[in-house]
Amino acid sequence: MKYHSTNNASHQVDLKEAILRSLPPDNGLYMPNSLPTLPEDFWKNYRNMSFKEIGFAVASAFFGEDVAAEDLRKIVNGTIEFDAPLVALSPDDHILELFHGPTLAFKDFGARFMARLMAHLTKNEDRMLTVLVATSGDTGGAVASAFHNVPGTRVVILYPKGKVSGLQEKQLTALGGNITALEIDGSFDDCQALVKQAFLDRELSERMNLTSANSINLSRLVPQSFYYIHSARQLPEGVKPVFVVPSGNFGNLTAGLLAKQLGLPVEHFVAATNRNDVVPAYLEKGEYLPRPSVATISNAMDVGAPSNFVRMQALFGNSWNEMKSNISGMSFSDDETRVAIREVKSKFGYQIDPHGAVGWLAARQYRKEHPGSMTITLETAHPAKFPDVMDAELGKDSVEIPARLAILANQPKVATALNKDWQTFRDWLTANIL
Ligand SMILES: *Cc1c(COP(=O)(O)O)cnc(C)c1O
Repeated sequence: MKYHSTNNASHQVDLKEAILRSLPPDNGLYMPNSLPTLPEDFWKNYRNMSFKEIGFAVASAFFGEDVAAEDLRKIVNGTIEFDAPLVALSPDDHILELFHGPTLAFKDFGARFMARLMAHLTKNEDRMLTVLVATSGDTGGAVASAFHNVPGTRVVILYPKGKVSGLQEKQLTALGGNITALEIDGSFDDCQALVKQAFLDRELSERMNLTSANSINLSRLVPQSFYYIHSARQLPEGVKPVFVVPSGNFGNLTAGLLAKQLGLPVEHFVAATNRNDVVPAYLEKGEYLPRPSVATISNAMDVGAPSNFVRMQALFGNSWNEMKSNISGMSFSDDETRVAIREVKSKFGYQIDPHGAVGWLAARQYRKEHPGSMTITLETAHPAKFPDVMDAELGKDSVEIPARLAILANQPKVATALNKDWQTFRDWLTANIL
């Protein structure tokens, strides 16, 4: 399969380049030249298949031409080492829990698949693949965990000293092995600048076989469509779900569109946002007006210029009407989100995180406007990741910290302290990585 840039259909690359480069040089996004569908045979049987078998079928539809079946099966099985359970709050109100991975957020699916695919694509090179990433918190943790112990790879993470939470820092510094943490005496922007400079340094970048684990990498989207299919088949036969997706950069929602394109029967999608409502506003008015983000309590969705929007447009042939007839947009305030967290707890005894709560509000509104519909709301992170909000709404220590996170808290921090000077960083890389 060939891949092209959304900015220039004639800029075509193979799978390896699309994945390792992450972004085309023209700043578009990579899309497959043709969008696969799954055969009728699959849709006859998928209700009885396992999560892993569904994942393998989807991954084969996208990558089967380029990656041998047995390799792809290993990549999928290594990605899905945990379930994505569907919880019914009431018969028409379902929550899809995507936080059972090591870093407690849905991003584990994409990051783990990407790590394994990257390792596979570079396995015949005698050089290690080095992933260089700057983080302000969560992304670095998901990437570190995903690449931890993946043969042929190593990760160098730069994080700003004193500016990430204690638990986040442990996610970056306590893994060891092929994960190296650099504690930079500076801001997140300083870390980002050092990473950019390293990629611009041709000699360094080539000798080190550098890659980025960018969140818009195509290989992060495809595994996110696995759980749309896995969850839909758990509804009663013949019911088409309405998927409600708490959204920021819209990767998760785009993965849902890919699942529908593969042939999954879907009634409708709802894009649920906080006050950063650029996409809901576009769906309503037809005008796309990106703007600076504002801070909210569902902070992983504080995005003012969603990076996957161009992919969504491409999937609908750049037609506003087409997009509008498939996706509704809804946005909610922090106050409404806080009330929802309390309401979901008191009515159903369920602890929902601030991102999932935005989704739950949108699902409730959609069902009210479309009686008889059945919603699946994606719960994108575990509530334990947001102790301040959860404690304020449900009481102190109301949310139990999962063991996999608690264990990390007791591990020692191992990080190399560096100043933010480029030459110091370059010297460190040359001495330690080359
Ligand atoms: C990243 C993230 C989102 C937003 O997902 P997109 O794919 O960027 O729309 C929502 N919730 C949580 C908890 C996240 O970490």
